Amino acid sequence: MFNIILFGPPGSGKGTQSEKLIAAYGLKHLSTGDLLRSEIARQTPLGLEAKSIMDRGQLVPDEVVVGMISSALEANPQAKGFLFDGFPRTVAQSEALDKLLNLKNTSIGVVLALQVTEEELVQRLLNRGLTSGRSDDTNESVIRARIKEYQDKTSVVADYYSQFDKVVNVKGEGSVEEIFAALCSEIDKRMS
Ligand code: ADP
Repeated sequence: MFNIILFGPPGSGKGTQSEKLIAAYGLKHLSTGDLLRSEIARQTPLGLEAKSIMDRGQLVPDEVVVGMISSALEANPQAKGFLFDGFPRTVAQSEALDKLLNLKNTSIGVVLALQVTEEELVQRLLNRGLTSGRSDDTNESVIRARIKEYQDKTSVVADYYSQFDKVVNVKGEGSVEEIFAALCSEIDKRMS
């Protein structure tokens, strides 16, 4: 099994690159944002609780997202590996993920951290808001709140995995194909 965390701020291209990476490496894509939006669409109690938090640009409680990831791991026993996208977003989530993977006798192979400037992030998210139908992408103050949550709570996740030498920074600006090639080259170095 080879498990990857695709890491970076909101708007750094994790969703776009995830689609290409899962196709290329046959990984199971686990996006907590997508899982939460599916709960919202189905109007589950969890979805109703999460929606108001997400609309403010804040993080959903750790136990909620860890529970969703734990179920998803259980539901995919024969996966060749997992690509985590938008998770873990706090150090507590990182520690919980390490424990869950440990129980499956596996671990994180690499954390690929996409680097994009803040102004570029805001522009991309506002552009995405024109077509994505995502309410958290249409309001600049919500976008700034998400970036602040990233800086306050999520950027330290990179420090957490750095102590195990697992983090590789990859430039997240350029063409989708260029960035994809850079990500693949880092994965190939570590998979072999
Ligand atoms: P983006 O990274 O572009 O903001 P996501 O789809 O990854 O989009 O996340 C959308 C929202 O869902 C976040 O702003 C947050 O409220 C919630 N969310 C997603 N993943 C997590 C997580 N791992 N922990 C807490 N909240 C999360």
